[in-house]
Amino acid sequence: MGGAIEVRLRDDAVPVFPAACCVCLAERPGDRHIVKARRASYWEVLMPWLWFTGKRVRHEVAMCPACRRREIWRRRWQWLGFGVAIAATLVVWQQCFEPSRLPRAVRRLVQLGLFLAFALPVGFWFVFWPLAFDLTVGDGYVAFEFANAEYAARFRRANDGALLPRA
Ligand SMILES: [Zn+2]
Repeated sequence: MGGAIEVRLRDDAVPVFPAACCVCLAERPGDRHIVKARRASYWEVLMPWLWFTGKRVRHEVAMCPACRRREIWRRRWQWLGFGVAIAATLVVWQQCFEPSRLPRAVRRLVQLGLFLAFALPVGFWFVFWPLAFDLTVGDGYVAFEFANAEYAARFRRANDGALLPRA
């Protein structure tokens, strides 16, 4: 596998999802998986109340129950992976670097380096072993990301009228 396939639709379009399971392509999968996303903005770091203003989307994709259980676990493990990366950064920092009298700028660099060292494997995991279905909200579009290339191709055909080119 190598990354999710992204299909961008206009954000006012109502997407049509093929009826098959978006993980294993089984017909009549019998369960639905809901993904919510919102338009995030870098300004939120400075103005957290903007969190309430971002455009929100919510979509349901068909999945069979077994595929859905795996998907939910994968999402949990990936977020847990980032939590572990942050915790590992703090522990290594406190044990190894905190007692030393490094200049302020060097301390910042060491902290950043430690975090990247622990978070990068998790980032690669996200990219190369993607979720079966995920959403990203952008300016005027919603990106639908599928791990299954065949399902992504069917989704693209089903939503021909609302497609946007990839930026
Ligand atoms: Zn399935």
